[in-house]
Amino acid sequence: MDIIHLLPDSVANQIAAGEVIQRPASCLKELVENSLDAGATYIQIILRDAGSTLLQVIDNGKGMSETDARMAFERHATSKIQSATDLYALHTMGFRGEALASIAAVAKVELLTRRPEDQIGTYLEIAGSRVMAQEPAQAPVGTSIKVKDLFFNLPARRRFLKKEDTEKRNLLRDFYRIALVYPQVQFLLVNNDEVLVDLPKQTVKERIESIFGSAQKKTFSSQLVELQANTPLVNITGFVGKPESASKKPQQFFFVNGRYMHHPYFHKAVLSAYSGMLGQEQNPSYFIYFEIAPDEIDVNIHPTKTEIKFTNEQYIWQILSATVRESLGKFHVAPSLDFDKEEPFEIPAATRTNTHFDAPHVQVNTAYNPFKSQSTYQPQKVETKGWENLFPVPEQRPVSSVEASSEKRITIDEVQAQTAIALPPKHILLPMPEGLMVIDQHRAHLAVQYAHFCEQIAEQQGIMQQVLFPEVVDLSVDEIELLLSIQDDLRFAGFDITQISKQTFSIDAVPAELSGQNAETILRVLLQDLTTNLQEARVPKIALTLAKATAIPAGKVLSKEEITDLLTRLFALSDYVFTPEGKRIVSLISTEEIENKFK
Ligand code: ADP
Ligand code: MG
Repeated sequence: MDIIHLLPDSVANQIAAGEVIQRPASCLKELVENSLDAGATYIQIILRDAGSTLLQVIDNGKGMSETDARMAFERHATSKIQSATDLYALHTMGFRGEALASIAAVAKVELLTRRPEDQIGTYLEIAGSRVMAQEPAQAPVGTSIKVKDLFFNLPARRRFLKKEDTEKRNLLRDFYRIALVYPQVQFLLVNNDEVLVDLPKQTVKERIESIFGSAQKKTFSSQLVELQANTPLVNITGFVGKPESASKKPQQFFFVNGRYMHHPYFHKAVLSAYSGMLGQEQNPSYFIYFEIAPDEIDVNIHPTKTEIKFTNEQYIWQILSATVRESLGKFHVAPSLDFDKEEPFEIPAATRTNTHFDAPHVQVNTAYNPFKSQSTYQPQKVETKGWENLFPVPEQRPVSSVEASSEKRITIDEVQAQTAIALPPKHILLPMPEGLMVIDQHRAHLAVQYAHFCEQIAEQQGIMQQVLFPEVVDLSVDEIELLLSIQDDLRFAGFDITQISKQTFSIDAVPAELSGQNAETILRVLLQDLTTNLQEARVPKIALTLAKATAIPAGKVLSKEEITDLLTRLFALSDYVFTPEGKRIVSLISTEEIENKFK
C-alpha cells in the first residue's frame, strides 16, 4: 500500500512560508529526522567538505514504495499529517512535507530505497526539481539519500556558506540536538573519511558521556544527577550538573516531546534551583526532557524556530524548579535545602529600584509600543528650515527651572500629552502652565529604552527573536573573555549566543526590539563599549548600547499617538531631565522668556 498523500491546499497555506534548507546543517537535520520517523535504528551520515559537496544519510528504516519515492519530492507530500491540527502535534518530527521537495530544488539528489516487503528497490535522481532518472534497482532495506552540491543552482546561497569548519560545527550542533533524544539509535558520522561521531545504542546518560565526556577523563556524566517528575501536566526527566561541576561553558539542553527547544524562562527555573550554590559566572550543565500533551504547546511551526510557548508556563516553571531542587537535595548535592526560606515557587520579581524622585501621576501601558514598526518608517518631507532660529533651544544650557533637583514635579496626563506637537525634525513641544516645554525626542526615547532594557535584564525577561540566518562571528581572545563574562546578561536581554568553537560564536537570537538590525554590528559595538569603560557596571552599559541601537532617530516624524506614548513613558522615569549620559532631554522656556521675545 502506498502511504503518501498530498496535503490539502488549505493546510499547505497554513504552513509557515520560508526556507527550510538554509545550510548543510538544516539539510542534515531534515534527512536524519526522516530516517528516525521511518523507524531507523542505525543511521549513517557521510559528508564531504562538511556537507557542501556531499551529504548522504543512510538508514535501515521502513523504506519507500516506488510511487512514494517519486511522491516524496512533491511539495507538501507527506505521510505524516492530514489536517492543520496535526501541525501542532510534535509527535512526529518532520511534518510539513516540504523538506525533500526543498532539498531537491537546490541540490542534486540521488535516492535509493527499498521496503522490507519488496524484492527490488527504487533508484531516483533529481536535480533542481527535475527528475533525471527513475528505475528499479537492487538495494538494501531502508533508504539512502545523497545530496550533492548543495545550492549548485543558487550561486549566491552557495557563497553564503561559511568556512568548512564553521559549517561542520553547525552540523555537529544540530546533530547532537537530535542524537541526545535518540540514544537507542546507533549513529555514525563521517566527514572527508574521518569518523567524527560513532555512537552505539546506549542510555541517555551514556549518550551524554559519549558526546561531551572527553576521551581522557570520562567524568562528565558522573557530575550529573538524575531528574524525574511525573505530573498530570508534564513529565520531566533528564540530568542536571552538580553545582561543583558548573563552569563557564556549560552544556544546556531542553527538549520537548523529542525536539530540541530554547526556553530562557525555564532556564531561569533551573538556575533558581541552584540559588546560592554557584560561584560567580559558573553555570550548570543540564539535559532536560519534557513530555507534554501537544495541545499544551503552541508551536511556532516555522522549521528554523526552536522557541516554544507553553499554555501553562508558570506551572511548569514551578514544577521544573522544584524538581531540580529536589534532585540536587536527594543526591546530597546541596547540604541543606530550606524550602521555606528560599520560597521555591516565587517567580523573580523586578529588582529595579526607585531613586530619589516621586513617581509622577501617569498611566503607563507597558505593553504598548508604538515604535515597533520603526524599521519600516519612511520619513515625511517637512519644511523645517530655519525653525531653530525662531526658537533657539540650546543643547546643554538649562533655559529655565526644570532641573532634576527641582521640587516642582511635572505631572502629565494623557489629555495633556495630546496637546503636544512634534516640531520636526528633532523636538516635541509641550505647552505647560509655566511655559513651553521642549523635548528632544531622540534623547527622550533613548532614556525610555534605557530604562526598559535595564528592567528586562534585571527581570531576565528579554524577548528573544530568532534570526533567520544565525550570524557567525569570529572574536578575539579578549572579546571572548568579555563575552563569556556577560553572557547571562545578554541572554536576559534577549540574545542567544552560542559558542561554536574556540573563537567563533553564532548569534541565534536577538532582543525582539532589535529585530531587523545587524546582529553582528550590535554585538561588536556592545563589546567595544564594554571594553572602553571596564570600571563601570556592565548592565547599565549593555542597556545603554541597546537603547542607542533602538532609540528613534531625531529625524523621525511621530504621530500623536506615538508622542503621547513617548511622553507618558518619559515622565514616568525617575529622571526625565537628563539621559543616562547626562545630556539634557527637556527644557522649559518660561512664559516670561517668551514674553520677553515680544518686547
Ligand atoms: P515530511 O517529513 O514532512 O513528511 P519530507 O519532505 O521530509 O516531508 O518527506 C516526505 C515523505 O517522504 C515523508 O512523509 C516520508 O513518507 C517519505 N520519506 C522521506 N524520507 C524517508 C526515509 N528516510 N525513509 C522512509 N520514508 C521517507
Ligand atoms: Mg521530513
